[in-house]
Amino acid sequence: MGVTSTLHPAAERLPERAAVVDLEAIRHNVRLLRTVAAPSRVMAVVKADAYGHGAVPVARAALEAGASWLGVAHIGEALALRAAGIEAPTLAWLHTAESNFSAAVGAGVDLGCSGWELGQIVQAAREQERPARVHLKIDTGLGRNGVTPDRWESVLDEATDYQDQGLLRVVGVFSHLAVADEPDRPETDVQLDVFRDAVALAEDAGCDLEVRHIANSPAIFSRPDSHFDLVRAGISVYGLSPFPEQSARDLGLRPAMTLRTLVSQCKRVPAGQGVSYGLTYRTPGESALGLIPLGYADGVPRTSDGGPVRIADRTYRVVGRVAMDQMVVDLGPEADLEAVAGSEAVLFGTGEDGGPTADDWARAAGTINYEIVTRISPRVPRIHVDSAEHRASAPADAAATTAGGAA
Ligand SMILES: *Cc1c(COP(=O)(O)O)cnc(C)c1O
Repeated sequence: MGVTSTLHPAAERLPERAAVVDLEAIRHNVRLLRTVAAPSRVMAVVKADAYGHGAVPVARAALEAGASWLGVAHIGEALALRAAGIEAPTLAWLHTAESNFSAAVGAGVDLGCSGWELGQIVQAAREQERPARVHLKIDTGLGRNGVTPDRWESVLDEATDYQDQGLLRVVGVFSHLAVADEPDRPETDVQLDVFRDAVALAEDAGCDLEVRHIANSPAIFSRPDSHFDLVRAGISVYGLSPFPEQSARDLGLRPAMTLRTLVSQCKRVPAGQGVSYGLTYRTPGESALGLIPLGYADGVPRTSDGGPVRIADRTYRVVGRVAMDQMVVDLGPEADLEAVAGSEAVLFGTGEDGGPTADDWARAAGTINYEIVTRISPRVPRIHVDSAEHRASAPADAAATTAGGAA
């Protein structure tokens, strides 16, 4: 059956199940973030495979749009960017005693440091015969990694000692905010005060800082006084809102990922038809069911209740349990099965034309939009399209690239 997608000309050749990522949406979001953060610069946070969007193509698009830095959690994630030929300044901030600091220093990856890593970082610098570039992290209140304020001066002593020996350079001081998505809470003010003090102490101790950074996506929009030299933007790069009460559209962001498949089967059923494991749903009357071939192995939360699926310009609700590979929508008694069978089924996307969004799925699953996009599993191929090339009438053939495992 001929399926025409509303997504993109290249969509005619999409795999039957795909997370389609529009790189022009990524660029649009980065340009917007640069405007909001100016004169501060923007770090695009591409950890966790760019929140499920594909780290390498997203990093390239973000840099094209003027991001100055890339940020990741793990050194391995930074090394994967380097292996793809991406040389932009890159920071990795979450380590263990077994992290490969030597490879990071060798690849010119900046290291976030909470104090305990200093010995291993200078050991790596000796091995690589090159000074490590370090961003010292102060725990201003989040209680995760970072140096607690009472130990800050002793860590500064140790770090500047190594700096004097030429083994490292403290090029940054940073921290992370706990409640910036709730702008009315007072703790952000406390965190910013602690941060300013920590920066001043570092400068007094002889650190020649290139960047001071604490703002995440919510703080970029709600706390201009948190921008300092650099802001670290994650969820907003992907076009999703960091606030429960404000939509992407309210902020001018464009959701980059569309999760879509095709309706696998449609059939009429009698009243009382049970649906999926546990038979937790029964049709209230004669109806029709549509089978959607995405399930929790693809990253759709099993705990979600009534998630939306857009088929042929109508939004239906998932009924019964989400299974490993599939789930079911109740199409209702009036459904035009001819129109629905084999049609494209969109779980979430740009939200244009009233279509469902990652926020809708977050509500259905009792989680946040961050988790919805990030947990889409490798079984779903990521397809990168570029609506800018499309508009410029470049051949669509060149636009679709597959990253991540094809199923
Ligand atoms: C993930 C992360 C970010 C990005 O946060 P968003 O809310 O997605 O913008 C910034 N900084 C650190 C340290 C992070 O771990």
